Amino acid sequence: MTDGARDRADELDRGDPLAGFRDEFLPSGDVLAYLDGNSLGRPPRAAAERLAAFVADEWAGRLIRGWTDGWLDWPQTLGDRLGRAVLGAAAGQVVVADSTTVLLYKLARAAVDARPGRTRIVLDTDNFPTDRYVLAGVAAERGLHLDWIETDPAEGIRPEQVAAAVGPDTALVSFSHVAYRSGWIADAAAITRIAHDAGALTLWDLSHSGGSVEVALDDWGADLAAGCTYKYLNGGPGAPAYAYVRAGLDVRQPIRGWLGTAEPFAMGPEHVPAPGARALISGTPPILGMVPLAASLDLIERAGIAAIRAKSLRLTGYALDLADAWLAPLGVTVAGPRDDARRGGHLMLRRPGFERVLAPLYERGVIPDYRRPDGIRVGLSPLSTSFREVHDGLAALRDLLARTPA
Ligand SMILES: *Cc1c(COP(=O)(O)O)cnc(C)c1O
Repeated sequence: MTDGARDRADELDRGDPLAGFRDEFLPSGDVLAYLDGNSLGRPPRAAAERLAAFVADEWAGRLIRGWTDGWLDWPQTLGDRLGRAVLGAAAGQVVVADSTTVLLYKLARAAVDARPGRTRIVLDTDNFPTDRYVLAGVAAERGLHLDWIETDPAEGIRPEQVAAAVGPDTALVSFSHVAYRSGWIADAAAITRIAHDAGALTLWDLSHSGGSVEVALDDWGADLAAGCTYKYLNGGPGAPAYAYVRAGLDVRQPIRGWLGTAEPFAMGPEHVPAPGARALISGTPPILGMVPLAASLDLIERAGIAAIRAKSLRLTGYALDLADAWLAPLGVTVAGPRDDARRGGHLMLRRPGFERVLAPLYERGVIPDYRRPDGIRVGLSPLSTSFREVHDGLAALRDLLARTPA
């Protein structure tokens, strides 16, 4: 099709100040367009080198001495780097540990226990399944009631809905900052204020925000947050997650292991929590799993989150233009926000019959993310995605849809 879309992609790539970062990631031979960087980011080249060097120099070289030489501090030092580069959090409030699900559980339990006498948790119907299940589990354990906000699946949670849902019995409100389906960015500062006015704590899931949109936990006044590192943070499959606890917030998490204590090697009779976010740690930290994340953070620190977000908006803006020009005539709708202020790092496209184009897309090396029943998510990881990739991926989708009845 000669509509100038490819020229426009090449022009955008030429003008992209972050274009050079694409070479910092390992190539995937058969992939023409990777549109699922919001589910699993590409591997930084340095991740492979660092993992090999870690095994040879640190594991073999230091053996058990490695723990006291520095590994024990990794959860906090990496957490502090994440806080500074990605989360808008001053030092001492972030640790890397566990998985997102486990950290959400620890934080939610800690939050409701820190608001004794309050009996309700406010959440929304469109949050990621693990968030809903964990919060329901905590409510069941503690005999609490869930107040569900019905979210519009093409949008997200709005401050006025939260204001209507909270009350003097609310212990905790918990949402995703960027909705995993629609890509809607919640007004976290306003929602946090509303929760605090009601005396409740906030728990934010940043899995779809960290590394793609600007996060400002300290400025929002947020209490607790967690997120994963294998999506826009390129930490690798199953990489450990991160958690934030606002400085000065006195919470006790439920899995009280020895490495979350102030003095683990005192081997004392009781669990005396370490100061700050360190108390969220339970047992031995997953050091090997943190090595790629350290390599990825080098790239993010160099690029800067403001430039990453600016490119993310250009990528999704270009994809929106192509969706309007090519896909809308084929029955595709954009089920997410269009305005820059509310649009996260991915787009949700909907059309009945998407499942039938998935296998042929994969055969052509185009990898989006299918969401039942009729959604395709186009996740555009700013450091590793070119505009040409967006063009080629959506052109393949257009060509296949044109031959596939809805
Ligand atoms: C990806 C994602 C998770 C993943 O949790 P895991 O414990 O890593 O499986 C949780 N919440 C949200 C909102 C996500 O997008």
